[in-house]
Amino acid sequence: MDGLMQSRPLSVAHVVERAESMFGHKRIVSAGDETLTFRAWAGRVRRLVTALDSLEVPEGATVGTLAANHRRHLELYAAAPVSKRVLHTINTRLPAEHLEHVIADAGDDVVFVDRAHLAGVWAGVRHLGVRHWVVLPDGTTADLPQDPRISHYEDLLAVSAPRAGSFEDDFSRDDEDLAAGLCYTSGTTGPPKGVVYSHRSTLLHSMGTMLAGYIGLHERDVVLPIVPMFHANAWGLPYGALLAGADLVLPGRSSDPAHLLALMDSEQVTVAAAVPTVWTSLVPGLAGTGRGAVRLLLAGGSAVAPALSRAYEGAWGLPLTHSWGMTEVSPVGAVGGLRSEHDALDPVSREEALAAQGQPLPLVRVRVVDVESGAPQPWDGASAGELQVAGPWVASAYLHRATTESHTEDGWLRTGDIATLDASGTVRLVDRLKDLIKSGGEWISSAELESAIGSHPEVDEVAVVARPDPRWMERPVACVVRRAGSALTAEQVKSHIAPTVARWWVPDEVVFVDSLPKTGTGKLAKAEVRAALR
Ligand code: ADP
Repeated sequence: MDGLMQSRPLSVAHVVERAESMFGHKRIVSAGDETLTFRAWAGRVRRLVTALDSLEVPEGATVGTLAANHRRHLELYAAAPVSKRVLHTINTRLPAEHLEHVIADAGDDVVFVDRAHLAGVWAGVRHLGVRHWVVLPDGTTADLPQDPRISHYEDLLAVSAPRAGSFEDDFSRDDEDLAAGLCYTSGTTGPPKGVVYSHRSTLLHSMGTMLAGYIGLHERDVVLPIVPMFHANAWGLPYGALLAGADLVLPGRSSDPAHLLALMDSEQVTVAAAVPTVWTSLVPGLAGTGRGAVRLLLAGGSAVAPALSRAYEGAWGLPLTHSWGMTEVSPVGAVGGLRSEHDALDPVSREEALAAQGQPLPLVRVRVVDVESGAPQPWDGASAGELQVAGPWVASAYLHRATTESHTEDGWLRTGDIATLDASGTVRLVDRLKDLIKSGGEWISSAELESAIGSHPEVDEVAVVARPDPRWMERPVACVVRRAGSALTAEQVKSHIAPTVARWWVPDEVVFVDSLPKTGTGKLAKAEVRAALR
């Protein structure tokens, strides 16, 4: 017997229409710019849809954005998918060859670009098949190239009438698998690969951001995505906030710590999200600023050092909450924090529990398999292997690529992360497959060594990478950035970690450097560290 329930499409149009019709009074604060109500914003979205029509951007075409976190970027977040075009958010910090690759690979028909960016990238992109470059005003007066393909956003909107009627009504059940968004992986382990979100996956993931016990966005929240809107769609938080009816605060181009702390305070932000590098940069200013209304500080993209979380607990009485995700997982797969089973823990075990990446959200399935044999590992909190995931907001393939390397035969995504699962399914990352160090036939976790070395008070940053070794195959080398004024020695680093790691894990060499290279999304660029060592 079939169920007799309505079979209705899941679409981004629902997110936008709910925001417009039920939460019209809620606010979009865009730093250094006008604050809009959801109603005013939706009116502009309707004009932008007409503008895309007038540019003759076809249904199904990709609409690129090279933009910071601001209100016009959010207009594109809505206008492209509700009109069945595909929003392609491009990393503004990509090196020239990657930028050219992603625009060409996506086949962007039009690109909306912040004024400050266009001149800088123009030489590398002008030959591509993009028909229109639309300049977003960003408060700068940066020079613009002379080219007939360049037009201005506000000019376009000024002559475009608002599209009337319901966008949702234009979607049928067959349309829910249409592409709504396209994001490229940030390229930490290889060239960027395209991940194509559907309407269905985006709507379900947006609901996922509203689940109590995880991120739990709700109407009373004021959400600050510090994570760029090009980094896996700011972790889905803009769509989540619109769906929940939460105020959104967009920080603009500046990632200056004082600016971010001031925004959190003045706007009474309740939920903020950023990579650990950004949270680290805010620490010196914590003492001078109150916690305000903050209830959740979300950290993801790379591991949170316990000392960093402790700094927030000390200053604001609130730890950082881990979230594990990947561009391929829309991106939120698991969210950390403490559950009832942790209530009775002593302080040390509590800190350990907080350091885990977290429990998978409903609808996300996880498993860990042995790297060499592929055998599923028990959920015992100790057996490590490759983390594999499946679910309705997990990528089934990459754009223009075969799935042989990225997916298992039964269709699970191979994350390339090495993890353990405990009896509650809590994910704890051990390392990335490509960053594991194989020494004398045994694995050494670079991530664990980094966390041990990083716990030294005079260490600002550390990267541990493998160096080829004739006897052991590979040996770990630690690259350390010392705190200003510190005269820390290699021997002191080694003796600091000796009590906590196996003897043969201790790096043979500790190299002191002034800084470590980062990717466009603020992660350690280990491939570059390895190359520099060579
Ligand atoms: P890239 O793979 O190019 O870095 P993503 O931003 O999609 O691009 O990164 C996903 C990866 O980031 C994950 O596979 C994992 O290695 C790492 N990661 C994400 N969240 C966390 C976290 N909370 N702790 C540790 N590592 C994380």
